[in-house]
Formats: sequence, structure tokens, C-alpha cells
Amino acid sequence: MAQYAKPLANLIAQLSRLPGIGGKTAQRLAFHILSMDEESAAKLADAITDAKRTMKYCSVCGNLTDVDPCPLCRDSSRDDSVICVVETPRDVAAMERIREFKGRYHVLHGVISPMDGIGPEDINLKSLIVRLQQNDVKEVILATNPNIEGEATAMYIARLLKPAGIKVTRIAHGIPVGGDLEYADEVTLSKAMEGRREL
Ligand SMILES: [Zn+2]
Repeated sequence: MAQYAKPLANLIAQLSRLPGIGGKTAQRLAFHILSMDEESAAKLADAITDAKRTMKYCSVCGNLTDVDPCPLCRDSSRDDSVICVVETPRDVAAMERIREFKGRYHVLHGVISPMDGIGPEDINLKSLIVRLQQNDVKEVILATNPNIEGEATAMYIARLLKPAGIKVTRIAHGIPVGGDLEYADEVTLSKAMEGRREL
């Protein structure tokens, strides 16, 4: 890195720790922040501190929220009998954007990954079992990502829940819109075939 004064070098270093921010982008952002007027820069810093202080995980579903339980868990118009299980709060936001799902959510905060030493007890799974015991849930939709860990986690949860007589479904995965059949990998293609529905 160029010979920057310590405060600037520190700002660049902190920014470059963010995902998707390389050294060059971090430098560009740092110079931009320093060109901002004092008030705007303070607002940015306050937004980070404030969000970090007030946002927490919902004690029911695990979603990110500033009120507990979160608005999605409080919303009485949503269907208590269906729970959609996702990996991260970002996945809840993605599902909410399509406005099709009206049930409840459960955020795992990760996936089972023996290679990384992450077992079932390391993700937010116990509270899902408790929810299922305390509520009349008819269906659990497993919406973990379509990769090896996501599939393995879905299989694990499915096996765990089936004996309780709860309907367990998996979202269909396939060729992304705009994707090319030719370039799809085998897992994607076989999932696309598996998830086919009648037209
Ligand atoms: Zn919640």
C-alpha cells in the first residue's frame, strides 16, 4: 500500500476487510469518505454504530430485527402452519422480495459442514424443534442453498422431522433464469429435472 498517513491507512484497512471490497475499492471509498463534509461522514459512522447496537436476532425465528419478536413473527396475517427454513437473514429478505410466501421463517445461521467442523448443534436448529413442538406446523419448507452443504443440511433436517409426521418439502432448484442448459453443472441439471412440474 502507498505511504498513507496512519488514520487514512487505518480507514483503508478497515474498509478492505468488508466482503467484496478489494484494496483499490477500499482506497477509493476512503478518499471519498474524507471528501465528504463532516456531517455526512458522521451520519455514516453513526449508522454503522446504531445498526450494530440495535439490530439483534429474533428470539423466535433468528431473523435480524430491531424489535423482538420480529415483525414477520408478530404479523398475525401470516400462516403459522408453514415454516420456511433458510440459511441467513439475507435469504429471508430475498424470499420476502418475491412476495409469494406467507408463512413463517426460521433462520439457521449457517449450514452443517463437517469439513469445517460445523455440526447440527452449531446451527440454529434446536429452536426449530422447539417451535415445531409448541406450534401446530403442517409443513416445513427447506430452502437452504443448492450446494453440497445446503443439500446435506436439508437432508439432515428432513430425516430429523419426518418421524414427527410433519410434511417436509424442498424448494425446487434448477437452471437460473437467463442461464444456459449447456453450462449448468450436473447437480443443477439433475435438480432441475427433479423439480419439474406439470404444465
Ligand atoms: Zn422472528
